[in-house]
Amino acid sequence: MRRKLAAGNWKMNGTPAELAQLNALITAHPTPNVDVLICPPSTLVAQAADIFAAFPLAIGGQDCHTAKSGAHTGDISADMLAAAGATYVLTGHSERRTDHGETDAVIASKSTAAYDANLTAIICIGETLDEREGGTTLDVLDAQLAGSIPDTATAANTVVAYEPVWAIGTGKVPTLDQIAEVHAHIRARLTARFTDGDGFRILYGGSVKGSNAADIFAVVDVDGALVGGASLTAADFSPIITALE
Ligand code: PGA
Repeated sequence: MRRKLAAGNWKMNGTPAELAQLNALITAHPTPNVDVLICPPSTLVAQAADIFAAFPLAIGGQDCHTAKSGAHTGDISADMLAAAGATYVLTGHSERRTDHGETDAVIASKSTAAYDANLTAIICIGETLDEREGGTTLDVLDAQLAGSIPDTATAANTVVAYEPVWAIGTGKVPTLDQIAEVHAHIRARLTARFTDGDGFRILYGGSVKGSNAADIFAVVDVDGALVGGASLTAADFSPIITALE
């Protein structure tokens, strides 16, 4: 059985004042029976991990460098995230791919850095609207799966997040049939490549909210969600966790 995962990605949002949302999440879900993860900005990782320390809720980073340390101004390593209390890190989010030109090879290298630091990598893939409308979605995802996921990936160290770029922050969500088609395709690719491919969790991401979460979670091979905007407050994230439980 794959344990379900509700992952929140705060992106470039949050100051210490917003850490109160984590206490509110603990109050609402002190012992969730699904995995709950928040990825705050790196400035808040250590404080956030302290707040969650006594509870079965996890903290992650939003990105890491490929190297362990060195002359990389402004960057943060997987080891640093782990030392700050993170247990997960996102790699290859579409905003990293777009804003920072990250290639599949770079993302695979970052994911390997995550494994070396004992972090679980949540490797993100997804097609643009042009690719969806051009009928190349599955080809695009195949290339991202092949290029972004290291050969050393296992069901324990890797989660795959399917996030259509056109659904992120737009309020647009694929149909349940479209989600089912893609998740089944990803599952088939994982089982073909990895002996434990059936154990990898596959998250859906892109405009998930309390009102659509239950329908999305009922789709076969959807093992949880990667949530942006609706993870910023406990009031918005809590119903998503409840829908997954
Ligand atoms: P969204 O973002 O939930 O705000 O659409 C999802 C994501 O980018 O992970």
